[in-house]
Amino acid sequence: MKALLLSQYKNLEVVDLPTPTPGPGEVLVQVAACGICGSDVHGYDGSTGRRIPPVVMGHEAAGAIAAVGPEVSGFAVGDRVTFDSTVYCGACDYCAKGEVNLCNNRQVIGVSCAEFRRAGAFAEYVIIPARIVYRLPEALSFEEAAMLEAVSVALHGVRVSELEGGETALVIGAGMIGLLLLQAARVAGCSRVFVADIDATRLKLAADLGADETVQASGAGLLHEVLRLTDGRGVDVVFEAVGRNETVAGAIDCVRKGGKVALVGNIAPEVSLPLQKVVSRQIRLQGSCASSGEYPEAIALISSGKIRVGQLITAVAPLGDGPSWFQRLYDREPNLMKIVLDPRGNGIQP
Ligand SMILES: [Zn+2]
Ligand SMILES: [Zn+2]
Repeated sequence: MKALLLSQYKNLEVVDLPTPTPGPGEVLVQVAACGICGSDVHGYDGSTGRRIPPVVMGHEAAGAIAAVGPEVSGFAVGDRVTFDSTVYCGACDYCAKGEVNLCNNRQVIGVSCAEFRRAGAFAEYVIIPARIVYRLPEALSFEEAAMLEAVSVALHGVRVSELEGGETALVIGAGMIGLLLLQAARVAGCSRVFVADIDATRLKLAADLGADETVQASGAGLLHEVLRLTDGRGVDVVFEAVGRNETVAGAIDCVRKGGKVALVGNIAPEVSLPLQKVVSRQIRLQGSCASSGEYPEAIALISSGKIRVGQLITAVAPLGDGPSWFQRLYDREPNLMKIVLDPRGNGIQP
């Protein structure tokens, strides 16, 4: 089979690899769409240590079942499916509680690190444990399904924030996850959702996707605008979807006393914490990691149009164009959202 191999850091090439055979409890998926994740781009140069070459990356994927291994029930060849990016063990204390994102033995499809390595879906075929596979409704295209991981991450960020409905919300960062958090906050019943970013193009998209107000500012300008929009009170909840010093500080500034800040972005490994603001204003900081069980809800919300992902897909390209798309993302070309690679058919250079 053809596969996009990270043969060494910053070097991707399409190579021939043996098509794998599913073992007990596994299925073989013929990949029809696989999104390039920010974590793939960050891992590509070795900076995260999570994509040790050689590795086939790719964990935001969908396709059709091509073979079913022994001891698998409920799936058949030809079924249109997607799968969770997290391979959880199903046996540890966290898995028992349904917190599969915190699994003690957690692995991720398309990741190779010191503890494990798992081939991913930038290939014609990928092996997936059947317990993390979900069937796709006909209404959902493979490209849309490649967005399910990102949608699940946004739904999880909202879920762990334990909203009651009627909240005012601010999303900081109008990238992929921020634009999905906007929509997820709306689905969760937030009465007004504001989105802040410094990029006007992204804010335009936020407005198209239903933001009540967009704020092109950070720091003092952002705080000023948020206070104006909330009669001096601050918002009930902030979803921080960047993860830098300035944006985390902005989130803590803009939330009301007793409010919640969901920390979803984590570009920087460390930020400074305005401790006295957090303590004296009794702000709840809530980390949110990946997702745990939100896939079915994400499938339903995209299918019903309550969460829209079409505008977030910048391009669907053949696997052979993968190296150049990775380079463009790595070079931070503006206005690129999700790039989806389709390993079927043409465009693969031998
Ligand atoms: Zn991802
Ligand atoms: Zn587990």
